[in-house]
Amino acid sequence: MTATESRTQHLLTLERQYDSGVYTKHDVIITRGLGASVWDSEGTEYVDCVGGYGVANIGHSNPEVVRAIQEQAENLIVLPQTLPNDKRAEFLEELISVLPSGLDRIFLCNSGTEAVEAAKKFAITATNGRTRFVSMKRGFSGRTLGALALTHEPKYREPFGAAVDNEHVQFVTYGNIAELEAAITEETAAVILEPIQGEGGVRPADLEFVRAARRITREKGALLIFDEIQTGFCRTGKFFALEHYCDAGCQDVNGVRCGCVVADSCLVVPDGITLAKAMAGGVPIGAFAMTGAVADKMPKGGHGTTFGGNPLAMAAGLAAIRFMKREKLWEQAAEKGDYFMKRLREIGSGKIREVRGRGLMIGVELKEKSAPYIHALEHDEQVLTLQATPLVVRFLPPIVITYEQIDRAVDAFARVLERVNPKG
Ligand SMILES: *Cc1c(COP(=O)(O)O)cnc(C)c1O
Repeated sequence: MTATESRTQHLLTLERQYDSGVYTKHDVIITRGLGASVWDSEGTEYVDCVGGYGVANIGHSNPEVVRAIQEQAENLIVLPQTLPNDKRAEFLEELISVLPSGLDRIFLCNSGTEAVEAAKKFAITATNGRTRFVSMKRGFSGRTLGALALTHEPKYREPFGAAVDNEHVQFVTYGNIAELEAAITEETAAVILEPIQGEGGVRPADLEFVRAARRITREKGALLIFDEIQTGFCRTGKFFALEHYCDAGCQDVNGVRCGCVVADSCLVVPDGITLAKAMAGGVPIGAFAMTGAVADKMPKGGHGTTFGGNPLAMAAGLAAIRFMKREKLWEQAAEKGDYFMKRLREIGSGKIREVRGRGLMIGVELKEKSAPYIHALEHDEQVLTLQATPLVVRFLPPIVITYEQIDRAVDAFARVLERVNPKG
């Protein structure tokens, strides 16, 4: 064993020994990243199609975000939200410039699950105290108790029993309008749905379902909330996935917004959107974007967070969103995603049931468990992918991934499908 190998072993042992144990640890130490590549402690390069679970859209250690963090760290790192800050003001303006018009009030926090918690509280006050929610089967909303209550997966919920609020949440089949109609009542505060389910196996909602959700929530006085934590910030080939539901032929007005969503007549503009993951180039951040009507019902002091809106995250977020706009990152996601999916379909393996997704949010559903293939991709091919439901291999690479890296990932996937034989 060389000195670096034994150092790696030592670090792995430390992390395994002292971590809480909730994560299944891989056996590499990743020390560095750039663009869509990460390197381990031995200097081996990997093509990273995990992308920090869909965080690293603008690439690992994006140089513009690095510079923004460095400069901001020298000025000011933390500041409560009662004290206004230059970077926070600029970030809010920048974020609102890419959101559908009407969603121009922002609650800033530090993660996706916190954004969902905020959405719930704002929905309750906006509907004068209604406390029931409608969420989707196979949906994922986060792991803190309030967000967990909206997360369907029993494996995540059941260990916590009655501490998870099961009583106030009803789950409906994603795509089933009749079930949705029956579930939404005069007691419903909000319906929350992912425009494309991520953890649930990369499943886009169909237009009719999204439209029905908008219509029924309006009729019943409930809010419609889109969870764009994974789909937002160019991932799916639009700045936000809700723009896929524009049917007025007016997408990308101003180079960014969907013109249909901008119009009052838009059928699918929600009352709020939860945001996190890619919003600040890798720095922890979350937000709930909402209409003024929703924000104005929350009493002063009704919600809050210490770290939310901190200048370091704001500076990173400002640089990240400016990069996305300038590089037209949504167009890159659309083009590269089409190429990636076309190449995956060309593999033509009998083990593949379906290749689906939008932009660079891609799932390959196999006819058998995906874990052995994900493992082989990492170990034998240096390609990192993630699971979404037991059968799906999910690809969420940085959108700055090169075509050469896409080829590398697809060729590697073809080889492991050919070679790995879990049954024999
Ligand atoms: C990741 C994710 C969350 C939770 O975000 P965290 O930052 O992990 O708390 C919620 N909803 C969706 C759709 C997600 O993909």
